[in-house]
Parts: sequence; C-alpha cells; structure tokens
Amino acid sequence: MIENTLDAGVSKTNLLGLTQEEMIQFFASLGEKPFRATQVMKWIHLGAVDNFQDMTNISKSLRSRLETVAEIRVPEVVYKQFSKDGTRKWVLKLDQGNNVEAVFIPSNGRGTLCVSSQVGCILDCSFCSTGKQGFQRNLTSAEIIAQVWVANHSFGPRDNRGDRPVTNIVMMGMGEPLLNFDNVISAMHIMKDDVGYGVSKRRLTLSTSGVVPAMDRMGDEIDVALAVSLHAPNDALRNQLVPINRKYPLKELLSACKRYLDRYDSNRRRITMEYVMIDGVNDSPEHAKELAKLLRNVPSKINLIPFNPFPGSDYQRSPPERVEWFQNFLLKQGYTTTVRVTRGGDIDAACGQLVGKVQDRTQRNLRWREKLIATDSEGGIERST
Ligand code: SAH
Ligand code: SF4
Repeated sequence: MIENTLDAGVSKTNLLGLTQEEMIQFFASLGEKPFRATQVMKWIHLGAVDNFQDMTNISKSLRSRLETVAEIRVPEVVYKQFSKDGTRKWVLKLDQGNNVEAVFIPSNGRGTLCVSSQVGCILDCSFCSTGKQGFQRNLTSAEIIAQVWVANHSFGPRDNRGDRPVTNIVMMGMGEPLLNFDNVISAMHIMKDDVGYGVSKRRLTLSTSGVVPAMDRMGDEIDVALAVSLHAPNDALRNQLVPINRKYPLKELLSACKRYLDRYDSNRRRITMEYVMIDGVNDSPEHAKELAKLLRNVPSKINLIPFNPFPGSDYQRSPPERVEWFQNFLLKQGYTTTVRVTRGGDIDAACGQLVGKVQDRTQRNLRWREKLIATDSEGGIERST
C-alpha cells in the first residue's frame, strides 16, 4: 500500500518505503514510464539522496512536479554514536515521543545492520528490555527503510557499481517483525532489490520469537534467511522465557521451521537458532543435551548470545566458561555453534538494548542525553545534537 502523509494540507506520498512495484504504480499514476521508478530508487537508496533537486538525470519539470506530490521523508536522527571498533548506532525520532534504534556492526569484511520493526514489543519475553517497554506501534515500511538509508548515508553517496558498506541486514532490533508483517515484507523487498540496497537473500535475516502462522506466510512471500529465538530446550522453560510458546509450542515451531526450509530447500539450508545464555536458568549441561536432541531433525546452526543485563532485570549473564562448555558440547554433537560477541561496548549494549534500557518513557530522552554526554568524553563518539 502506498503511504500518504499530510503536509501543509497537501497529501504527499513518501517514496522512501515504496517497493519497486509500488514505485512503478506511483509513476504510472503521474503518466510516467516505469524506468522512472528505478531511476528514482537508485537516487534514494544507492545515492542516499533525500531531495528531488539532486536527481540530475530527471528533467527539471518532473523534479518540480515530484516536489508537489511526493517526498522522501527520513525521520530525524536524534542521536548517533560511532564507536572506536567501527560500530555505529542511530536513534531515530518518530512521532509522539517514540524512538527506534539501528546498529551497524562491521566484522571480517562484512557490515551488518540490525534493524527495528516496531516501537516496543507486545510479546514480553522475560529477558528482553524491548518487551519490558510494552508495545507502542508498528513502524511503517518507510520508517524501517529509513534505518538502512541513514546507515548508508553516514558512509556518503555510493555509485551504482556497489561497494556497499551495509552487506548484511538482520531484522533483530526492537520488535517482533512478523507481527508487523506487511511493512516488514515490503521493506525487505527494498533491501533485496538491486535498485534498493542489493542485499542477497542469504545476507538478509529475519529473527522471530516463533509466530508460527506468519512464518508460513513469510515463506510464501519472500526468500530470506530465518533465525528463531529458541532460548530453551523444552516447553516448560520456554513458556517462562518466551511467552508466545504457550500459543505455539516447540513441536509446532520446529515443524514450521522445517516447512520453511523445505519450501526453497536449495537456498535455505539451515535455520539459525538463537539461544540467550542466562546464568542458572537455561545454561546447564542437561539443557545442552536436551537442546542437541531437540534439534536433531531440524537443519540448524546455533548462535549462543550471552545475556545482556539491563536495569530492572533479575537475570545474570552465564559465566564465560559455561558458555564455552555449552558451545563445545554442541560442536561435538555436530552443530555449527557460534557465540555472539557484544560489540560497541564503549557506546552501549547490543541490538535492541539501547532504547529499551530506559524504561520510564517520559525520562527516556533525558537519560539518553546524559548517557551520551557521559560517554562522549571518552572520544570516538559523535553526538548529533
Ligand atoms: N522479536 C524478534 C527479533 C528481535 S530480538 C525475536 O525475538 O527474535 C533479537 C534477538 O535478541 C532475539 O534473539 C532476542 O531473543 C535477543 N535478546 C533480547 N533481549 C536480549 C538480552 N537482554 N540479552 C541477549 N539477547 C537478547
Ligand atoms: Fe519481543 Fe523479540 Fe524482545 Fe521477545 S525477544 S519481547 S519477541 S523483541
């Protein structure tokens, strides 16, 4: 669906969140040919341009016309932090005090951008600070793409031949992407599109806590990598940690994973199973054994995530030796098992944690500001306000 906004009484279409198909429709409505859609998309997404006057291969009259009926509206970046290790974070200001964050993490020649899909989250997993904020609203496809646009823009304009700093995108920021289905799918089409961000299907990952019916729908609509927030090897424990498990228990979740893999079996070789490691909760040798058994028939790779503490949470991170034991055990059982390293430690915690850290919404901006000012003195951090 094409999004309209009211600007000084005039309805303008925000082109930022339009898929190629929608962009073609938009230009058709102006009596323009389809190639205009790809031209404009290249300017917006490859060129990181947000005004029509910079689009020099478009006639002046069409540029002026576009200005009257359309806009490229990118939310304001209220804070940005660039860490010494190359990690970059942005906080984008939406409406009514809502904010979202995006995080860019460079590593081994790859640049991974972690993107948010909602303000808050309704699912309330017990270890997640985003869940503790409650749910505010879904992001529009333009607000999702804006995070990629802002990251891209921070590296300066690109030409059409590539050299894109953002090589991988993970829908692992704030929110449950499958509960904002249409906007997330549209945004992921733009991320994959060659005249969008050109991210290949194996380098674009959606992470879900297990919204089973939407996993099936997703398989119908787009071919990307899937990560599942598993976090527990049995229903009793998963019911506590990931409450949506009460609705879609492990058996159903793992069947949905298999159906997803079967759909395009040559491309989707394995599901990434995310497993947050919480001291004394889900990190015992028995849990590791149970996990190895559970995943026996689901082609999986396992990503262990040491728990990131946040104010108000009673959980502690598993000690490193226990994480190592868990990893070695799963490796011996034949599972590719990685441990997520927390990056950008000098600016804040991992994906989804920056905004969620502050629970009192009225105090949120103030506390961010205090935090940024405090960390700014360490250098390597750029403040945008
Ligand atoms: N809602 C989706 C995607 C966003 S969360 C999902 O749950 O999959 C992205 C990942 O971060 C998930 O695996 C989530 O379980 C994990 N996560 C959330 N809070 C965390 C914390 N405090 N410490 C470590 N990982 C956390
Ligand atoms: Fe929502 Fe994911 Fe956090 Fe659970 S882990 S509350 S699904 S954002």
